[in-house]
Amino acid sequence: MTAGRLFAADALLPEGWAKNVLLAWNDAGQLTRIEAGTHAPAGVQSAKGPLVPGMPNLHSHAFQRGFAGLTEFRAGEQDSFWSWRTLMYRFAGRLAPQHMEAIATWLYAEMLEAGYTSVCEFQYVHHQDDGRPYADDATLSLALLRAAQKVGIGFTLLPVLYQTSGFGGLPPNEGQRRFIRSTESMLALLESLKPRCDAQGACLGLAPHSLRAVPPDALREAIAGLDAIDRSAPIHIHIAEQTREVEDCIAWSGSRPVEWLLDHAPVDARWCLVHATHMSDAEYQRAAASGAVAGLCPTTEANLGDGIFDLPRWRRHHGAWGLGSDSHATVNAAEELLMLEYSQRLATRQRNVGASAAQPQVATALTLAAVQGGAQASGRAVGGLEAGQQADFVILDADHLALQGLGAPEMLSAHVFASHRTSAIDAVWVGGKPRVAAGRHALHDEAARGFVQARSQLLKD
Ligand SMILES: [Zn+2]
Repeated sequence: MTAGRLFAADALLPEGWAKNVLLAWNDAGQLTRIEAGTHAPAGVQSAKGPLVPGMPNLHSHAFQRGFAGLTEFRAGEQDSFWSWRTLMYRFAGRLAPQHMEAIATWLYAEMLEAGYTSVCEFQYVHHQDDGRPYADDATLSLALLRAAQKVGIGFTLLPVLYQTSGFGGLPPNEGQRRFIRSTESMLALLESLKPRCDAQGACLGLAPHSLRAVPPDALREAIAGLDAIDRSAPIHIHIAEQTREVEDCIAWSGSRPVEWLLDHAPVDARWCLVHATHMSDAEYQRAAASGAVAGLCPTTEANLGDGIFDLPRWRRHHGAWGLGSDSHATVNAAEELLMLEYSQRLATRQRNVGASAAQPQVATALTLAAVQGGAQASGRAVGGLEAGQQADFVILDADHLALQGLGAPEMLSAHVFASHRTSAIDAVWVGGKPRVAAGRHALHDEAARGFVQARSQLLKD
């Protein structure tokens, strides 16, 4: 049964731009029909601008939004990822469930306003500040589920397995006490979260934090345990983000991280290799062939000085990829695409690197690829405007100065490359429900107040 319909003069379908498109969806918020070259039936609302698929955000650590912008000063002779991590640990050490919920509520409203319609939460703060589990072990994960439900963003929860502080089973350090859990307790946590995720249409997966944090036996046992709960559940892992991590992995095993993972784990299309920045030729080829998604987080990788993913090489091997806002230095799907394309231009000294022969418009080509890869990594039907997928879409603001008077593909280009950090988004719909109207989420003010209050409390000495 049709629950909702919307007409758009221009819409970006999986095969490219189409004119005069009528979308219909059912009560479950799933698209049932996409008809191009038609007209608006009487009484059906028309979109104010071009319709583009909502962007799945495949990598988020919600609480890190609380200190975005606060680590931009020199703390030592040479600042790096590792000095940033020290500050992150201090912040994570003080976080209470109400802070987590307030920060995530604002963040997810912000994401919706910025063109993300779903998010994968890589959730590694599990315990109380002294390292003991909460009475309900799922407390902090539940805070995130509530935040997602409140603002109406699609959700994939990835509880993080974290056991060691370095390769070879190094014991965890004090800053990691809230993250640490046994494989057994992780599987019990997944069991308890599964019905709670199902109840709100969220997907539940698993995130082994990284090869430095999860020893081989634990990795194997955790995946076997996850399979017993859901054989198709997504698996995300941080990998090859830093050159030091690559060196440490070689010193420990004789192999590079991605190489080791491909040799020892059943990596396939369920997997998301987050960052995968530092790979050899052979790793690019093998990782792409595995079907795994490369989880690119361009502004965070730039912020942390990680390095540059080789997108042309990945694409030559037909690798899937999607976007994450990770540390939330930036929460804006368009800006993430801009950073990705510009880093590739700087590295290759070429332009329009993300375009292809089939799709010469670079913003269009990047959007379609990131939506498809992001959907795969999310384990949810959020892969764009076609029947069977969720009715998750963004309506660009055709009245925004950067877009006015342009054709639809050029409007998307202007949105990504020339909107000067102002948003050219008019509306955002998730599962056939309007969540952002005239550029704002209904809970914008309330969520913003809660966020500022939580951040002030966390920064107080
Ligand atoms: Zn991350």
